[in-house]
Amino acid sequence: MKVLLLFTGGTISMVRDAETGALHPADMQTFKAFVPELFAGDIQVDMIPFEPLLDSSDLNPDNWRQMAHVVQDNYDAYDGFVILHGTDTMAYSASALSFMFDNLCKPVVFTGSQLPVGVLRSDAKENLLTAIEIAAAYDTDGKAIVPEVTLFMDGELYRGNRATKRNAEHFSAFNSYNYPALARAGVHITYNRQLIQPIGNTARPLHVFERFDTRVAILKLFPGITEEVVAAVLNTPNLRGVVLETFGSGNAPSHEWLYQSLRDACYLCHSAEN
Ligand code: ASP
Repeated sequence: MKVLLLFTGGTISMVRDAETGALHPADMQTFKAFVPELFAGDIQVDMIPFEPLLDSSDLNPDNWRQMAHVVQDNYDAYDGFVILHGTDTMAYSASALSFMFDNLCKPVVFTGSQLPVGVLRSDAKENLLTAIEIAAAYDTDGKAIVPEVTLFMDGELYRGNRATKRNAEHFSAFNSYNYPALARAGVHITYNRQLIQPIGNTARPLHVFERFDTRVAILKLFPGITEEVVAAVLNTPNLRGVVLETFGSGNAPSHEWLYQSLRDACYLCHSAEN
């Protein structure tokens, strides 16, 4: 089995400078020295690093395209892919890639860690080694067990577009509130097979959708939100779409000015299109 490890950066890649004590991204040789197990098993692991390694707060849709192309360009040569990523925006990248791939028949597993790889109590090794095992997990009929984009952290495997970072302190940093875990890793890795996406058509090639429109905004409602705040978001030049973060199951304050601002914004957007 062959797994390609794409290294984008994040806490997992950091090492402490012996003199200053400051953390900085490790070069590949240093990283490999911390995880010799990577190259000791039956799975062949090759690594491709982003140059430079990035904190995940700096990632954007261009980097999602970069990740997707690494998978596409190496698709035939590997059985599975692991993407090492900072935890802060890992769920965004996993979600984006899950929608970018059409007819994905191989595992793409995102993982990272809460402590840098060289720290004694680090969760890096466990997350990385299990993610690799999941990426290389195939049935005897030659089909991948989890042929979709997923996120693995602290023993749980989540669907990429259902995961959310919930905690910056605990090793269990993610949750999937609207869909159960696809697998749990304890002594054995137990797959919830009926929840896993059915495999695509292996005879068809992988297709990557790569057009993103970044002219979008999120408007989070809160008690006491003012007309000026709403106007500032909705009047953003060239805005094409707004995600409203509302209360409960979609409730919002019943101010007439709010509804009118939303109607005006829809009208402006339609007129810009026509
Ligand atoms: N700031 C880091 C990142 O998201 C945090 C982490 O990796 O956990 O890149």
